[in-house]
Amino acid sequence: MLTRRQFLKLFATTVAVTSALELVMQMPTGSGAANREIPILLYHRVGHTRGHLTVSPERFAADLAELAAAGYRTITLEQFEAFLQDRNVELPDKPLLITFDDGYRDNYEQAFPLLQRYNMQAAFFIITGMIGQPERLSGAQIREMAGAGMSFGSHTVSHRSLGDLPVPEIQQELALSKFDLEDLLGRPVRSIAYPKGSYNYDTIKLAEENGYVAGFTTLHGKSSKKTHPFALRRIPLFSFDGDIWTIMAKRGRAE
Ligand SMILES: [Zn+2]
Repeated sequence: MLTRRQFLKLFATTVAVTSALELVMQMPTGSGAANREIPILLYHRVGHTRGHLTVSPERFAADLAELAAAGYRTITLEQFEAFLQDRNVELPDKPLLITFDDGYRDNYEQAFPLLQRYNMQAAFFIITGMIGQPERLSGAQIREMAGAGMSFGSHTVSHRSLGDLPVPEIQQELALSKFDLEDLLGRPVRSIAYPKGSYNYDTIKLAEENGYVAGFTTLHGKSSKKTHPFALRRIPLFSFDGDIWTIMAKRGRAE
């Protein structure tokens, strides 16, 4: 699907911090759906642990309350995957995809109840080799969250930078994490979030070959059907961040 030449163009452009959009316009433009930009929020931890990747439960609840009050409606990973693949899929008026990377236990203990309180859904990208380890989600917690409407994607087996690995190891990270999550959930897993945002041509090619349909980066911006489906942009949120609208405006623009 993606030739090496196309990838190199895309990758060079992404790195050069100019507009990648023009180069990846593989789909016709003009329809509302094709041009629709979806904010994808990226959280890691919710709690009171130290570090810039942790937001407080109060802060997370305030974000959800503000987003809900402004009319944003969360979508599942499955809805988003369908949106990328099917031009006619129906989404709410103000769609929002909330994602969490790294599979920390506080996602279950803190974020999950708050999401439920606001009747919202989120997608959790799991490091499968760490399932059940201290501070990480257990298999039972992941299944319970899935049963309550949360969705799950791969964050690889070992959280190494895919862009730096030899091909057989990229393959193993992609295939094994997908297999283990599907085995745990009993449903297809078709999205990957690249650890540390690292990916390359081989990563995309192998992800496609292994049945993935979407790859989430750590590049800033919103995502649309014009964004390359394996170079999706997100809006990260950190402990030191202020108002959600300021962050969405600032990091919702392409880098
Ligand atoms: Zn990560």
